[in-house]
Amino acid sequence: MADVETTNQSILVVGGGMSGITAALEAAEAGHNVVLVEKNSYLGGRVTQLYQYFPKLCPPNCGLEINFRRMKLNPKIRFFTMAEVTGISGQEGDYDVTVKLAPRYVNEKCTCCGKCSEVCETEIDNPFNFGMDKIKAAYLPHEFAFPMRYVLDPSISGTEDGKKCKEACEYDAIDLEMEETTFDLKVGAIVWAAGWDPYDASKVEYYGFGEYKNVITNVMMERLASPSGPTGGKILRPSDGKEPKNVAFIQCAGSRDENHLPYCSGICCLASMKHSTYLREMYPDCDVTIFFIDIRALDRLEDFYIKVQEDEKLTFIKSKIAEVTEDEETGDLLLEGENTNTGEQVRMSFDLVVLATGMVPNKIDIDTVPDVSYDEYGFLTYDPEKAGIYGAGCVRTPTDVASCVQDATGAALKAIQSIARR
Ligand SMILES: Cc1cc2nc3c(=O)[nH]c(=O)nc-3n(C[C@H](O)[C@H](O)[C@H](O)COP(=O)(O)OP(=O)(O)OC[C@H]3O[C@@H](n4cnc5c(N)ncnc54)[C@H](O)[C@@H]3O)c2cc1C
Ligand code: SF4
Ligand code: SF4
Repeated sequence: MADVETTNQSILVVGGGMSGITAALEAAEAGHNVVLVEKNSYLGGRVTQLYQYFPKLCPPNCGLEINFRRMKLNPKIRFFTMAEVTGISGQEGDYDVTVKLAPRYVNEKCTCCGKCSEVCETEIDNPFNFGMDKIKAAYLPHEFAFPMRYVLDPSISGTEDGKKCKEACEYDAIDLEMEETTFDLKVGAIVWAAGWDPYDASKVEYYGFGEYKNVITNVMMERLASPSGPTGGKILRPSDGKEPKNVAFIQCAGSRDENHLPYCSGICCLASMKHSTYLREMYPDCDVTIFFIDIRALDRLEDFYIKVQEDEKLTFIKSKIAEVTEDEETGDLLLEGENTNTGEQVRMSFDLVVLATGMVPNKIDIDTVPDVSYDEYGFLTYDPEKAGIYGAGCVRTPTDVASCVQDATGAALKAIQSIARR
């Protein structure tokens, strides 16, 4: 049982990405006790998997570090990783919440010495790198993980390998008897900041993701470019490990399409432009083509669009690509469609294709679903008639980090107002 005392003056934040961290900090710095619940083994959310941020192309970890420091200094925030909410009942000003904690098998004595990982023989797909490489079943989730603590995969908890890890640990940090636990909270308001999942690209069958090795997604591109990624920061073709010379980006891959995601995810045009800068910096001879329906780069972000267009080896073609097929011998990919500016047929070959897939909101997914409103696409909406539970960040709209931070600040204020009203 977790040692956490809360009252109806406390605020629960679900999701420890940029939105949840911001909402938690803002509410705590305004004087409220906050409990932050994150289902991953680390905080930071999807941003931790990005190599650089547009438009400044800086590393996301700087911003995260500042927030983690603020959290460490603030005794009003309690956070739980590997934690999920399983029940919410009550109403604005008075909620009863149940939280489930999955076993990590590693306690706070862990010094990250890595000895358990050295002796562990079992390997698992690395979720942080979207399964593009393997890691030991005793692992640190990623190099900047917060909390900085190892995790044991449940698959080795009752095995000889698990015992070997425990024996290798000189700090008594491994507890193979850890079990799933639950605890209850009383809170006055809830901020739902559970973020987004990438759209499943294999559903867009005509682009061949999952079938053709050299068709990857935009989130995979972030990990390929990152020095902590599966290739040590070199963007290489998955089929043969070669440096790509001619790369295509297909925008709206499953987005703005009634059969998939009918809405625009707002950031994937900018993400592809950012990816083109990754490629062009790494490979000065590489050609990059972005196939788009419309380019979405609004307000200050339009400057980034203007800047990347200065690159002569980056081409924009207005076309909805209809099909991707693979040359089995070379692993190259043939893209076919129509250039909607000229009416000409597009038939072009590339050695790597990146699908710019959209963002799917993580709705409130528990048995006793509280009374909240969603729009037609599944994004949480603000309804003054249903006050008490507030969406923050990408659960409300697919957007960039700066907008999420603003939105989460607003959600924290709404949560504080809920408490003040009761
Ligand atoms: C390819 C790509 C590149 C991008 N590049 C940029 C960029 O360069 N600059 C930029 O500003 N934005 C970029 N973005 C957008 C950025 O990723 C989002 O703005 C950001 O992740 C939103 O943060 P969030 O906290 O709302 O959601 P998330 O980052 O998704 O965080 C949500 C957190 O909630 C947790 N969670 C989910 N469900 C539960 C649950 N039931 N219980 C507990 N916890 C839960 C998740 O594990 C996660 O940690 C990019 C997006 C994509 C797709
Ligand atoms: S669990 Fe033990 S052996 Fe593994 S990294 Fe932590 S301190 Fe080292
Ligand atoms: S941001 Fe661009 S790629 Fe993404 S859905 Fe909108 S138009 Fe399509």
